[in-house]
Amino acid sequence: MSKQLNFGAGPCILPQEVFEEASKAVLNFNGLSILEISHRSPDFVAVMDEAIALVKKSLNVPEGYAVMFLQGGASLGFLISAMNMARKHKKAAYIDTGVWSAKAIKEAVNAGLEVDIIASSKADGYKSIPNIDTIDGDYDFVHYTSNNTIYGTQFKKAIDSKIPVVCDMSSDIFSKEINVADFDIIYAGAQKNLGPAGATLYIVKESILGQSSIPMPSYLNLKTHFEKDSMFNTPPVFSIYTSMLNLRYLLKTGGVAAIEKVNQAKADLLYTEIDANPLFMGNVNIKDRSNMNVTFVLTHEELTDEFNAAWKKANIVGLKGHRSAGGFRASMYNALPLSSVEVLVQTMKEFTAEHI
Ligand code: PMP
Repeated sequence: MSKQLNFGAGPCILPQEVFEEASKAVLNFNGLSILEISHRSPDFVAVMDEAIALVKKSLNVPEGYAVMFLQGGASLGFLISAMNMARKHKKAAYIDTGVWSAKAIKEAVNAGLEVDIIASSKADGYKSIPNIDTIDGDYDFVHYTSNNTIYGTQFKKAIDSKIPVVCDMSSDIFSKEINVADFDIIYAGAQKNLGPAGATLYIVKESILGQSSIPMPSYLNLKTHFEKDSMFNTPPVFSIYTSMLNLRYLLKTGGVAAIEKVNQAKADLLYTEIDANPLFMGNVNIKDRSNMNVTFVLTHEELTDEFNAAWKKANIVGLKGHRSAGGFRASMYNALPLSSVEVLVQTMKEFTAEHI
């Protein structure tokens, strides 16, 4: 069976070359399988060191920032980030752009923090990114979700803040250039642009470590992982190894700056078709459209079954919208080639030619 074109929201496509290299290591990584080696073996310690170095290189991580790999996904990151940033106010500002920020808010409250939602796009069904002035106030930090995977909205630039900034970058990290110095904590599940599910990436300003004002269980304390070089407990070896391979591939192919251009070209191609084609309509505010997750609907809902059949016939998978948003969602992470977007656009054009 030929490889399908994966527009799924995640876990997601990785470059074919990375799949091939990772699969070889499952059978033989220096004489053992990557799945059976000790995480404390020199061979794996070298993998961890290289993965961390490649994250730093690809995102130009400045001095004074630590890169760590933990587990628990971004869902544990909601709690870990809030607990580690709690200070004297025990109060935080959150920007609400839908499901993922709502979950982050819930965990901050579970951590005992008072939360103020300082901006929200709830009123328009999360079809936009709220307008936000410079953030200041008696808060320990402000938190936002850079790209909302479900609705297809994305912050086009970092927020302007006088207080420390925490960001869930799960669904757009490594897709575009960022200035790490704008953030105190960045966290992201690996399973979009980095590697297979399992590892969770943290990029943390070192000066925030060990400063929390609330009791911290060992695993949830980022200082624990910093002091143990991400080896406090058994790390997700295969996820980190494959992430390392993927970062090597990213740098070899021009790094984040180069993939940002490709991602822009993919987004331009698909949004242009959505706007030009009378059978389709984009879901979100044009200026807030995500380059990673493109959400759209049919203008004639009664054609849904036929359109589903058309894209499936074109060997496309994963185009169904999130169960809470409906419609369609084309996720176009780094490894999705432009050629796959061309197939989707062609399928939409042919579908319209047949039905109008
Ligand atoms: N934040 C965002 C923006 C996400 O897209 C997701 C998962 N798709 C999560 C958080 C939750 O991540 P995890 O499954 O790694 O806990």
